[in-house]
Formats: sequence, structure tokens, C-alpha cells
Amino acid sequence: MRKRLVIANWKMNGSLALVDEMVAGFSAASHVDVIVAPPSVYVFHLTEVAAGSFGVGLQDVSQFESGAHTGDLSAAMMAELGATAVLVGHSERRSEHGETDATVAAKGLRVLAAGMMPVICVGESLAERESGQAEAKVRAQIEAQADCLRFGGEIAIAYEPVWAIGTGKSASALEAVAMHREIRRVLQEVTAEYAQGIRILYGGSVNGENAAELFSHDEIEGVLVGGASLDTEQFAAIIRAADV
Ligand code: PEP
Repeated sequence: MRKRLVIANWKMNGSLALVDEMVAGFSAASHVDVIVAPPSVYVFHLTEVAAGSFGVGLQDVSQFESGAHTGDLSAAMMAELGATAVLVGHSERRSEHGETDATVAAKGLRVLAAGMMPVICVGESLAERESGQAEAKVRAQIEAQADCLRFGGEIAIAYEPVWAIGTGKSASALEAVAMHREIRRVLQEVTAEYAQGIRILYGGSVNGENAAELFSHDEIEGVLVGGASLDTEQFAAIIRAADV
């Protein structure tokens, strides 16, 4: 089995002190790639102090290359700082900032063109799951990223059911596995050439307690962790659970 990928998404949380605490408490695991995505203002400091012990990511990127886009940050700027991955299409960006599949696709292509890995976030709402639409929703979100998926760069898909994000109610391991299998089928249809190289992560209330159960399934090739990534000990426990 290939290396698992554990990504911390701090969202709009943390501090310079937490960056230092995270780095001081970090211990590498041989079968796990770790990426920490703090708020962008902390990225420069993180790249300096992390000194390559884990990867540095960002939580969003501009869909534009450069120019008059006040407040935006370009993919090239992120790559220049040494970042290796960028989340695109997180459900909070989709719901709070009106990001569409087309916006997400444009962002993903910018990230790839800058030589970094887009982590494309997909997932259904509670209403969609309860009405039996979960697979159709996720399929449509992935198909909309066809240009990125066929680009040929490193990509990860994060399956994050919206009802599990920040709620403390993780999807069961079997629910996650079933959707990961469906995502693998869709990737195969969209790009037989590159599908197998794409890691599929689960996200949604992952913590130090439920990580081991998730990682007992080969289909869970990594996790995207929000709340629990702010707790150095919990995050370390998740990395240990992934190291199998
Ligand atoms: C996330 O922000 O991507 C996430 C999964 O959050 P949490 O782990 O807090 O549910």
C-alpha cells in the first residue's frame, strides 16, 4: 500500500505559538506524508521552522494568475514560499464564498500549473444523503474537475460529507469506504491514465479516537483533519494511526 496522506486544515484558527508547538511536538512516521495548512499569514514562518519535516499547504488560492485582485494570493506566490499543496473547493469556501465547481476547477489548474498538489474537496449535504443523492452529487463534483484530473500532476481528492465537518459526527468507516470506492470508479472513468495515482482522503470529524478504525480500511488513503489538528497530541495520534 502506498504512503498515506494526513493533512491538517487549521481553518481560521491558531497562532504563531501554535505553529512553534506543532513543529516542536512533531514526530515523523515512515509511511505517512504529513501536510499542515495553517492560515496563510503563518505559512512563511511555518516553512522556516518546519525545515522540511512535513509539507506546508494552504487552504485556498486565487483562480487568477496575478493582477488587481485585492486580498487574493496566487499559486505562484505559494510555490515560491515552498508550499506543496493547496485545498480547493472546501465546503466552507463553497458555502460562504459561493465557489462553484467551475471556480474550483480554475483554482485546481492554477495549483497544478505552479507545481503543487491540489486537494480537491467534495461531499454531499445531509439532505442529499438522506434523499439518496450522495453518490450523484459527489460524482458530479468530480466530473467537473476533469481538466485537473487529466492534467497529469499530483492530486488528492478529499471526500468530506458536509454533515460530518466540524459536527463531531464522523461518517462511519463503512460509509466512507463505500464512497471512496465510488470515487475510485468515477476517477477511472474520467481518466484511466491517472486515476490510480490519485489518493482519496476522508475528512469530517476525524480525531485521535476514530482514526484507527478508518485506517483499518485500505480505501482510506489519508485524512483531512480540521478541529483535531489544532491539538498537537490528537494530531500526533492520527499520524500514528495512519502509519500502518
Ligand atoms: C475540515 O475542515 O476539512 C474538516 C474535516 O473539519 P473537522 O475535522 O473539524 O470536521
